[in-house]
Amino acid sequence: MALADMTLAVQPPPTLAQIAAKVEQGTRIDAEEARWLWQNASVGELQRLAAIVRSRFHAPGECTYMVMRIVNYTNVCVAQCNYCAFYKLPTQAGGYVMSQDDVFAKLDELIALGGDLAAFNGGFNPALPLSYYCELFAAIRERYGESLEFYALTIAEFLYLADHAKLSYAEAAERLRASGVRWITGGGSEILTEGFRARHSKFKYTVAEYFEAQRAIIDAGLKTTATMVIGFDETLDERLEHLDRTRQFQDETRGLASFLCWTFKPYFTQLGGQLGGIEISTAEYLKHLALCRIFLDNIPRIRTSVLTQNQRALEGLNYGADDFDLPIEDEVTQKAGATISLDFERILDYARELGYTPRYRHVALAAKQ
Ligand code: SF4
Repeated sequence: MALADMTLAVQPPPTLAQIAAKVEQGTRIDAEEARWLWQNASVGELQRLAAIVRSRFHAPGECTYMVMRIVNYTNVCVAQCNYCAFYKLPTQAGGYVMSQDDVFAKLDELIALGGDLAAFNGGFNPALPLSYYCELFAAIRERYGESLEFYALTIAEFLYLADHAKLSYAEAAERLRASGVRWITGGGSEILTEGFRARHSKFKYTVAEYFEAQRAIIDAGLKTTATMVIGFDETLDERLEHLDRTRQFQDETRGLASFLCWTFKPYFTQLGGQLGGIEISTAEYLKHLALCRIFLDNIPRIRTSVLTQNQRALEGLNYGADDFDLPIEDEVTQKAGATISLDFERILDYARELGYTPRYRHVALAAKQ
């Protein structure tokens, strides 16, 4: 190729004015433009662009929240992710499996504290057959009816469960749906690149399998969500690949009800030790939330993580987020250093100080509509 042709082939870097004009006009930005924003835009400009995209879905000053509990029904797991401080191998002491009565006690406490959403999250436990899950979820639906909704499993657990039961993803999704399940959330995604999986959770699943299972879940008529976790050793390229895959999947399926990003808690984990036990800053998390809102132009609900950022997560409302959980328990992140406050009014007051009117979002009621 002649030198002149090579010169012509090189694209000039985008400018802030060009990218801002695209966002203002509702034109999608690509991964290179997202990279440019991350590396060059001021925090104020990111907030401004995120607010523009947010305003297409939510009125300024409005936000929603839920009081919820994560029920860690078993900590026995064979996946051995090196960022996890929660699991016990089947041969190790300290493993547990909750009975239905154990779970009911947790759900009763949640309701007493004003919550109505439970999210089940445990390990890849080879001793638990599919019937454990189907019977548990059917019993919850029967006992609580429409007064409580539950996120049954994450995609990661669903993958293991289908594999372990020797069922296709479609068959496993149908069995769970018939047991009263309505939601299987996108948890366990962390960073959706094959490189990340190979470095940190090589026994878990591939990214291709993750999306194949999520597609089967949507096809079965179940609801699902997208998630992401940052603050490991992931590169900017990997973060952008995760966002790009998520946006593309949403284009194809329209099945992702929300996107939630939280931050890695490194304490007592193998990877955390290698990284020196350092968490990313809240400022980096908030900046990332803004980029997510700008890039994920096809996901209406962008959620901010009180579980891992505490009250300061609400500042994410000024970075494009519109929704948050008030969790009362999650053993997985608490084991790795997360702290939980049950002083919900103090947290909600912070949202009000920031200029927002928080409104409770009832997933249980929405399911009936
Ligand atoms: S993160 Fe989940 S799948 Fe990985 S080891 Fe921990 S419990 Fe198991």
